Amino acid sequence: MFVYKLLCLVLILRLRAAAPTGSAHLGDSARFWHITDLHLDPTYHVTSDPREVCSSSKGSPASDAGPFGAFLCDSPYRLIQSAFSHMEPLVQAHDFIIWTGDSPPHVSPEKLSTDAVIQLMKNMTLTFRKHFPNTTVFPSIGNHDYWPQDQLPAFTNQIYRAAAELWRDWLKDDALLTLAEGGFYSQLVKPGLRLLSVNTILYYGPNKAVGNGSDPAGQFLWLEKTLAGAAQRLEKVFIIGHVPVGFLPYARNTTAIREEHNERLLSIYRKYSDVITGQFYGHTHRDSVMVLLNHQGKAVNSLFVSPAVTPIKDAKDPFSNNPGLRLYVYDPQDYGVMDIWQYYLNLTEANERRRSDWRLEYVMTEAFGLSDLRPQSLLKLGLELMTPHSDAFLTYFRHFMVGYDSSFTCEGPCWLNQVCAVLYLDQDAYAHCVANEQLWR
Ligand SMILES: [Zn+2]
Ligand SMILES: [Zn+2]
Repeated sequence: MFVYKLLCLVLILRLRAAAPTGSAHLGDSARFWHITDLHLDPTYHVTSDPREVCSSSKGSPASDAGPFGAFLCDSPYRLIQSAFSHMEPLVQAHDFIIWTGDSPPHVSPEKLSTDAVIQLMKNMTLTFRKHFPNTTVFPSIGNHDYWPQDQLPAFTNQIYRAAAELWRDWLKDDALLTLAEGGFYSQLVKPGLRLLSVNTILYYGPNKAVGNGSDPAGQFLWLEKTLAGAAQRLEKVFIIGHVPVGFLPYARNTTAIREEHNERLLSIYRKYSDVITGQFYGHTHRDSVMVLLNHQGKAVNSLFVSPAVTPIKDAKDPFSNNPGLRLYVYDPQDYGVMDIWQYYLNLTEANERRRSDWRLEYVMTEAFGLSDLRPQSLLKLGLELMTPHSDAFLTYFRHFMVGYDSSFTCEGPCWLNQVCAVLYLDQDAYAHCVANEQLWR
């Protein structure tokens, strides 16, 4: 009898972990999925010489290599398939998927070409279509979705045009037109909700192909015009993009986007903060949040950076991330973000067992005792993180690495980088935050 009860309990817990139906918010909520930074490495193969496992380890020994990947390598196709297979039964009829770029592996330019990059983007697009034939996918272009990497131009080119061709099933004609011209687009998700895919690589520091012009590809003008139009029609907007605005959480005083362009984007996002109800990014491969404050210190926008599917880390990096993907829950009336269901694969365990058990890592409102993920709630979280060694910060940092290594601690400068990046997205406020380190102690 006891065994039977135990089995029932295990079954109930497994069902809860597999199908997100237990959350307070899910009753009449709407949802979408976010998957990012797949970074397929077609050379990945488990072999006796750890230096030969994958090109993306660049000669470093991938000694932990197994069928689902290694922490010095980009994704084997099997890892990507396991992620999609996990999502497949969970995706519901009205869900959509956002996919924020980076299909090719981290390898030197000689190992790729424009054609190779297009083939990798095509491979990933077909994988989405195979697993989710009836679901709309909204993609963004990443800094690796170009050859040579990072050098995305502010005008039409073979890769933007190939993307527009590959994504024809998901996007409407007017969206395909701006995608082919400048790598960005706007599309109505449903009446009242618009999605803007912004090409933030045009503002990315390492991109030397874009000159010093104040408005590459006219995207700022387009962004303002599109947001003004949405405001007029009383629509709400989700912003998606590859490289996030704000400061990197693992470095001091470093924006991914050029500083002047970061400031310009933030001023547009503040101006239209009543229209924008969520911003969703990839690129850092780690799990983090940001809350945009207006000049009076009021929280006006919620921003989320989703962890990658690829587990890759550089040989000199102290830690990495387990593969992750997530579900967002939002309010179907005003489109505010209500919750995140973060799923992950324990890569070490999966390789040992030779089986991929993707599991629920956390539900964000439950993990931090929040009522939702609207700007006010994220501000509350940000202020809690300001207490060093707080339970909230320990949990936040464990999630940042997607449970990679619980023995790795983040204190002092590491902690300050994290918390200042959550709350302060512009130069002045961020500088003030890091300069007043002693105030937080
Ligand atoms: Zn990436
Ligand atoms: Zn990237």
